[in-house]
Amino acid sequence: MRKNIVAGNWKMNTLPKEGVELANGVAEGRKEVCDCVEIIVCPPYTHIAQVIEAVEGKNVKVGAQDCATEVKGAYTGEVSAEMIAALGCEYVILGHSERRQYYGETSETLNKKMARAFEFGLKPIYCVGENLEEREAGRHFEVCKQQIEEVVFNLTEEQFANTVIAYEPVWAIGTGKTATAGQAEEIHAYIREVLRSKFGAKAEECSILYGGSCKPSNAQEIFSKPNVDGGLIGGAALKAEDFLAIGKAF
Ligand code: PEP
Repeated sequence: MRKNIVAGNWKMNTLPKEGVELANGVAEGRKEVCDCVEIIVCPPYTHIAQVIEAVEGKNVKVGAQDCATEVKGAYTGEVSAEMIAALGCEYVILGHSERRQYYGETSETLNKKMARAFEFGLKPIYCVGENLEEREAGRHFEVCKQQIEEVVFNLTEEQFANTVIAYEPVWAIGTGKTATAGQAEEIHAYIREVLRSKFGAKAEECSILYGGSCKPSNAQEIFSKPNVDGGLIGGAALKAEDFLAIGKAF
């Protein structure tokens, strides 16, 4: 009833030539992954167009890693949602912990970015998750709830229907530490309950992805949990073989 999704966040990695090679590898191997899994790659802005060309007709979707809060104008260095959409992207990652942590993104910023994404027909992959200190203090439920309430609760039903949530515990991102399948399921089920309190039965249709050192060796166990609908993959998305192996975990 809800989509299984495996999305690769390439972050600030790959030069255009490497990105196209990686995209070609993903496109080539995609046929070995069940059609029941949506495969998304999110390259750096600089080669989104080339990646879109490389995966054309191969059942691989493309997303950006961020977008600007404003529509257009004098915002040096920014890339707008409209520009991303014009390239042919379907998705945009918003609220990744690296953006929250290094670029000071707040719920206020993210409300604007979400609005821009919808204005230009992009589907956001909205990231939430606690840091180590918050996890150790047992505040992970509260932190995720707040990140959802302050942003996702402002969406219309139709916008919510086009939103993907990614739960990414900051302590597991790029650290090699993974949440156990049990920890992932516990918080994914909680996130769904929070979503249900606002959107009712529509919450059942929302894909909630796990992110944080997900790799071929642990994907199957994590994805086997009823409230885990796939993964947002960082490091392991940089090798087509590993990324596809994660897709095959379904
Ligand atoms: C991410 O940053 O979205 C991520 C999940 O990274 P990694 O898989 O490298 O932990």
